[in-house]
Amino acid sequence: MRKKIIAGNWKMNNDFEQGLKLASEVNNMVKDEINADVQVVICAPYIHLASVGKLLSGKVALGAQNCYTKKSGAYTGEVSVEMLKSVGVSYVIIGHSERREYFNETNQFLAEKVNIILENGLTPIFCCGETLKQREEGIHIDFVNSQLTDSLFHLSPEQFTKVVIAYEPIWAIGTGVTASTAQAQEMHEKIRNHIASKYGASLANEITIQYGGSCNASNAPELFACADIDGGLIGGASLEARKFVDVIKAMK
Ligand code: PEP
Repeated sequence: MRKKIIAGNWKMNNDFEQGLKLASEVNNMVKDEINADVQVVICAPYIHLASVGKLLSGKVALGAQNCYTKKSGAYTGEVSVEMLKSVGVSYVIIGHSERREYFNETNQFLAEKVNIILENGLTPIFCCGETLKQREEGIHIDFVNSQLTDSLFHLSPEQFTKVVIAYEPIWAIGTGVTASTAQAQEMHEKIRNHIASKYGASLANEITIQYGGSCNASNAPELFACADIDGGLIGGASLEARKFVDVIKAMK
């Protein structure tokens, strides 16, 4: 049975006090209301991590939104995976389309991030997804497959089983436009087939593939009911505890 994971990506939102309040509200609601077998993750900004981590119970794990590729040294402004681990982080989002676009992160650079995250025993949440133009041109499936090949297919089968994939069509992120269930399910199935073509069907069947892109409590039940959708990476709807927990409740 593959793991169901709902992760909230706060992005660059919430000052310190607001972050602690939100984390504590989510943690309490999850404790009281969620019985389903779902792993909840809060991916907070770097400066919140140590304190947010102290507030979380076992049901909610701590995630970072980024990391650097080196262990330590003269890399001013960067944060290593070892540092993240030392404050209790267990998931790290990498390859978010915002980082690919605004910080020029390439598939090769992301391959290095995957390596160092796995070396430290943490779980990468690897984001992939196409632009609207690519979808309209009919190259979206090839494009997403190439993101997976270039950043992940150097991994051994054992390493690959520790990776979580988040399919996030760029045109659906923060736009209020969600991929239809048919569009989302189709891409998730293609991603799983692509993984199977390299690692075999049984391994591919164990990989958690989240959907992300304007997911909220109204559209989540239909999306999460799809055969190949194993959870969500939630941006806007993770910034209010009630909204986020209602999305989590949609995961059965
Ligand atoms: C995201 O940034 O990963 C995301 C899915 O954002 P939103 O839910 O706001 O579209």
